Amino acid sequence: MKLYQNDVKLKHLKATLDRTYFPKELDNKEIIERRWKQTERALKKAQPHIQALYRSLRDDIISLLKEIDFDYSKLSQNVPDRVKRIVNERKKKWKNPYLLYLATTHNWTYRSVLKLLICSLYASKYEEIKEISQDVFVISAVDTYSQSVADRRIKDAVLLSLATILSFAVMPVIQNTYDEYLDSLLISQVDEMESFILISQMNVSIDENSLLKVLIKQSHRILYVNEDKYSGGLEDAVRVVSNSAYTYDTKPDQQVRFVAEMDEKTTRMCRSLNNQIFYTNKENVFKRYSAQNNAIIEVKCNGLVQGLNMPPISDHFHWCRSTLTYQITVL
Ligand SMILES: [Zn+2]
Repeated sequence: MKLYQNDVKLKHLKATLDRTYFPKELDNKEIIERRWKQTERALKKAQPHIQALYRSLRDDIISLLKEIDFDYSKLSQNVPDRVKRIVNERKKKWKNPYLLYLATTHNWTYRSVLKLLICSLYASKYEEIKEISQDVFVISAVDTYSQSVADRRIKDAVLLSLATILSFAVMPVIQNTYDEYLDSLLISQVDEMESFILISQMNVSIDENSLLKVLIKQSHRILYVNEDKYSGGLEDAVRVVSNSAYTYDTKPDQQVRFVAEMDEKTTRMCRSLNNQIFYTNKENVFKRYSAQNNAIIEVKCNGLVQGLNMPPISDHFHWCRSTLTYQITVL
């Protein structure tokens, strides 16, 4: 399921860094295109893999209901020993913290066992989602970091470690790590599926098409690509990874310029930040639009602060393709 193997990624990075590639000056539109080309390609490549995982949950859930012989009339009855054995056998392989928590707190009613086993199905898919996401982060970071090295004319750049790349993966606005985001998403998606099953069974049986619809909708919380529109948690996180990789390991007096994608959908926040110049490590004093205050406000911050002067920009979170560049002159 992996999009790329780790050694391939590292070889690719080494090859990119070895090339003494000095880009020509670009206009803002070209800067944005160059910044996101590989990242968005990786997102496009990841989407069918993530959807396939959610699609396969449909069959897993249907066969689970058959296996434990679940129906709505049994909700508060205890499961037979046969089902207890199924649970105890599967439990040995479980590692997800929430799943382990459920495993220690559940009782043996059908309702409780149903939730536990549904959660185990989701948890195994989430393991794979984490791997796919990690691949997207690595592809994106390797690409934007090599852009950064080329733009700064650095010849002896260090390789980014996987740990460094993963440390970039925080969620805009909530500032939790992406893995923490997935952990809480798992809890809400398991709850949602539990309710869906109970409500469907109350009305006799589960309609497999509606079940699939619920699952596909759930997959969009991770990633949704529709032509050139991207959304979902993975998309939000990879923009942070990408901009962090681009501005990683800079000199104390390094400056960057904010580049917004200017079209009819550009937010007032990003419009007000467009072409402003910031230090990556020193204090910045600047003016930007704040949606919360509905006014231009003066901001002081140290270096780059994600959401404030480092994209993706928050304060009315939006689909944000803004980025930063070392090319200070505007073409
Ligand atoms: Zn924006």
